[in-house]
Amino acid sequence: MPNNSVITLFREILDDSSILSGESLKSRFYHIWKTDVQLESLCLLLPRSTDEVSAIVKICNDYNQEIIIHGGLTNLVGSTISNKNQVVISLEKMNKIVEIDENGKTITCESGAIIEDIINTVKDKDLLLPLNFGARGSAQIGGAVSTNAGGLRVFKYGMTRNLVMGIEAVLPDGTVISSLKKLMKDNSGYDLKQLFIGSEGTLGIVTKVVLRLYRLPKTRYTSLAATNNYQNVLDLFKTMENKISSNLTGFELLWTNTYSQMVSDKTLYNKYLPDNYKYYIFIEYMGGDFENDYNKFEEVVLESVDKGIIDDAVIGKDEKEQVNIWGIREDVAVLADEKEFDQHFDISIPVSLIGEVIDKISLELKECEGVKTIFPFGHVADGNIHFIIGKDSDDDKLKSEINEIIYSNTEKVDGSISAEHGIGLDKKKYLIKTRSQDEIELMRLIKKSIDPKNILNPGRVI
Ligand SMILES: Cc1cc2nc3c(=O)[nH]c(=O)nc-3n(C[C@H](O)[C@H](O)[C@H](O)COP(=O)(O)OP(=O)(O)OC[C@H]3O[C@@H](n4cnc5c(N)ncnc54)[C@H](O)[C@@H]3O)c2cc1C
Repeated sequence: MPNNSVITLFREILDDSSILSGESLKSRFYHIWKTDVQLESLCLLLPRSTDEVSAIVKICNDYNQEIIIHGGLTNLVGSTISNKNQVVISLEKMNKIVEIDENGKTITCESGAIIEDIINTVKDKDLLLPLNFGARGSAQIGGAVSTNAGGLRVFKYGMTRNLVMGIEAVLPDGTVISSLKKLMKDNSGYDLKQLFIGSEGTLGIVTKVVLRLYRLPKTRYTSLAATNNYQNVLDLFKTMENKISSNLTGFELLWTNTYSQMVSDKTLYNKYLPDNYKYYIFIEYMGGDFENDYNKFEEVVLESVDKGIIDDAVIGKDEKEQVNIWGIREDVAVLADEKEFDQHFDISIPVSLIGEVIDKISLELKECEGVKTIFPFGHVADGNIHFIIGKDSDDDKLKSEINEIIYSNTEKVDGSISAEHGIGLDKKKYLIKTRSQDEIELMRLIKKSIDPKNILNPGRVI
């Protein structure tokens, strides 16, 4: 059957408004990072239920039709790019909250629910979904699960994997695997949900999830601290862990040029501390004791200054100031606009080596002709550092040169080329720098046994 005849079969499952093809596809723009481009696809399908997803996938499997899955499209690794022969399935209409269990502290929702909407919904019930990252207003929970997203609170609450209790997913042959249990403990055989977490949509389409929630903390305080020495960053972390461990929910780092650009005249952010230090640390404290929490937090910050662990610090005096301080960290993505072209990295490095490795990488990048701006920042407490690198050209040779500098330095310290964003299409070539040939072969074996026709997100990851 010619490919576009599958559209006739889709019409037996979906109403016309849920199938975009031909002329109607032209109105659909596909947002890749900073640019809107025309979506290339045979058709874009917008199912409203798991049964519809299953029926669509079954047809695709019967007719060897390749599928690309779209969540909130915020990935930075080319995972959702499609061509004119591929069917795109977007989960955007499957965004319902199915149930909130206040006593059991869980939420069950469809995979197209936007992360920020889930956060706000459970907040009304005094519950916290600790997933927190810059793209939370667009990213969907299905996308976060499929990429095992991290963010600003990983060292405290873990990656998305740690928050997933149950999953419903559609396999590449249309079978629905549903295990929407709210159990912390279940050792009855293989933990199958792990197949779908972090596998970037190559093994199944996630349609529903059960997430673990926490009681909403009542207080939140923020401090921005500065030092010139990486050992002091580590000492500050140790001090915070010793003194306020259960209340420490954020510990993020910006290098000097990233900070100074974020508080320059070009942005709206206040320069809370002078921009002549080497490191800027963003600390978040959350607790439940209105009376004492502020004093407890202030005490440990002041003690760190007195002991010379940090050179300077400021504590947000009210909610507005806290939001502004965190904005300097959370909005770093705007630095990608500094130059016409940019490359993004999210590497993992052993925490104690971060200072020297980032210095070495930055030095090598500076010597690389064509690199115009270098902005390092990241989740220092869990070893995940990001780079936004600005360039005036999109030259492939320059791209490879930059990749080589970052990834070989990462490889040398047994790091990972992707701490959170995944592999997608963009990093496939470099997977071998971080996983052994045997590991990659095992991934291929799993893919082959679940998706023998290679129809689901083909060509991504492996
Ligand atoms: C400003 C900014 C900040 C970011 N910060 C972070 C950060 O701190 N931490 C972090 O981890 N990431 C971060 N990201 C990356 C990105 O937001 C995450 O990877 C996010 O989880 C992607 O979700 P999404 O819904 O946008 O998925 P998409 O981009 O649509 O898809 C990502 C992958 O998952 C697949 N997929 C999507 N939905 C499903 C589904 N229901 N079932 C199966 N497969 C599916 C897609 O095919 C694709 O392979 C950031 C991105 C931006 C733009």
